[in-house]
Amino acid sequence: MGAGLAAINFIRHLPKEIELVWVLNEGYQKSNSYLAKGGVAVSFPGDVESHIEDTLVAGASACDEQLVREVIGASEQVFTSMKKSGILFDEEALQEGGHSQARIQHVSDQTGKFVIEHLWQEVLKRRNTRLLFNYCASDILCENNAFKGLQLSHRITGEQMLVYGSALVLATGGVGNLYSMNTNAITVNGSALGMAIRAGLKTKNLEFVQFHPTKLYSPYNSSQVLVTEAFRGAGAVLVSESGYAFMDDIHPLASLAPRDIVALGMFNQMKKDGVLHVYLDYSALSDDEFQTKFPYLFQQARRSTWHKNKRMPVAPAAHYLCGGLKVNANCKTSMLGVYAIGEVACTGLHGANRLASNSLLELFYFSEKLAKNISDDIQVIEEKDTILESLSPVSQLDLAKYEKQMQCIMWQNFGIVRTSSGMHAGLSKLQELEFQLCMLAEASIPYRRLFNSLQAAICIAKSAYNRKQSLGCHVVKQDNVCAL
Ligand SMILES: Cc1cc2nc3c(=O)[nH]c(=O)nc-3n(C[C@H](O)[C@H](O)[C@H](O)COP(=O)(O)OP(=O)(O)OC[C@H]3O[C@@H](n4cnc5c(N)ncnc54)[C@H](O)[C@@H]3O)c2cc1C
Repeated sequence: MGAGLAAINFIRHLPKEIELVWVLNEGYQKSNSYLAKGGVAVSFPGDVESHIEDTLVAGASACDEQLVREVIGASEQVFTSMKKSGILFDEEALQEGGHSQARIQHVSDQTGKFVIEHLWQEVLKRRNTRLLFNYCASDILCENNAFKGLQLSHRITGEQMLVYGSALVLATGGVGNLYSMNTNAITVNGSALGMAIRAGLKTKNLEFVQFHPTKLYSPYNSSQVLVTEAFRGAGAVLVSESGYAFMDDIHPLASLAPRDIVALGMFNQMKKDGVLHVYLDYSALSDDEFQTKFPYLFQQARRSTWHKNKRMPVAPAAHYLCGGLKVNANCKTSMLGVYAIGEVACTGLHGANRLASNSLLELFYFSEKLAKNISDDIQVIEEKDTILESLSPVSQLDLAKYEKQMQCIMWQNFGIVRTSSGMHAGLSKLQELEFQLCMLAEASIPYRRLFNSLQAAICIAKSAYNRKQSLGCHVVKQDNVCAL
């Protein structure tokens, strides 16, 4: 399941004789992979130890060190394999926040788009593949904690069916759209994670939601433009309304400090100044350098009113789920026959906070590893579908109202800075919302989707509430309110 790079790279490497049913609810353009700007973190001999160290430091000692060594140690190999497939990476590696070296391999400033467009062509040629396009999954069928099949519905016609199989690979991404301010593609809403949670799969580290510090600010989340950390790596500096470089007081790496520290510094500065954004001052970059290194961002800047002052308004937004479905080093979840790769999985690489550009590395590494090993576990089963009564593809309810409520609760109570009382209140509100939705119970696809998303939100809220101390991107400000 999924149309992002985790799914696509898995399929590329899957042995040709394995029969595949590929469930895509939309095209690859609606994935976070397509939006990835910066690139892939890759270390060559001589730099491997410092890449490991940077990952462990960012992860706030909550990473699985053995697994970190396995993944980072293989990064050169991952890169070579991508280059062999014909992807033309730029010559010069970039540096991003939290990295002590310039090691981000990239294709211009739209790495995800170029890579996915390239690999998509390759997987479309695969035989033994049944493509279920426009289908979203709402339930996992299982027996005695073993996978049996999936309940799918066609998001335009409402056709509903059960599809049986011997293994399920979830490559369904993160949870950005559970938050009112986020950087994610519209389809990335935690619904598959919620579905898996309802089926009883174990999760890990869900409280660690990373906020990207620099989304181009627009009221009501109307812009989805992310300003890559590489832009700060090239010399842009975070400044307050009055032009003060406030990160200088906070961390030795200033604007290039790890993401959680930058997001927190911005949050505090915005609160202090009573404003909704700060600025990136890019006067140190010449127009030539800006245009050559960041052509996409340059296009956006040229159309704006702020470009003449070389100060871009930016604000933090929910970006990446460091936790997810608990998997072992072979991508196995807690349910027999169910695997998870990419952002939906928690492998232990990121710990309490992801180091920039380690996520594409992680998904390339594990999707290939799983594809090469999964045949050991697969048994032949008879292929059959069961057609169920159709669902309505549209809702008669005002679901947008409930979704907005959920997103606001998540943003306000489980956002960049959390308090015990805020999380307690937020969890109660989410549970109240769940109760209201249960009372409405509608046989429609949007309803099922929202209900699953809400399950993911509640699980994140519970994990956050249960972690009383700050760690990595889970920042708790103490207050005096008692426990549940
Ligand atoms: C703006 C942005 C920039 C980024 N830049 C970088 C970067 O430079 N380097 C880096 O390492 N990482 C970056 N990341 C993170 C990285 O892009 C993601 O972690 C990664 O692409 C996730 O890939 P994936 O295949 O796991 O999920 P995705 O690419 O998000 O794909 C998930 C797929 O699952 C589908 N899906 C979801 N729910 C369902 C359902 N219920 N039924 C059917 N299908 C479903 C979605 O439609 C989608 O096709 C960035 C993220 C964003 C948002």
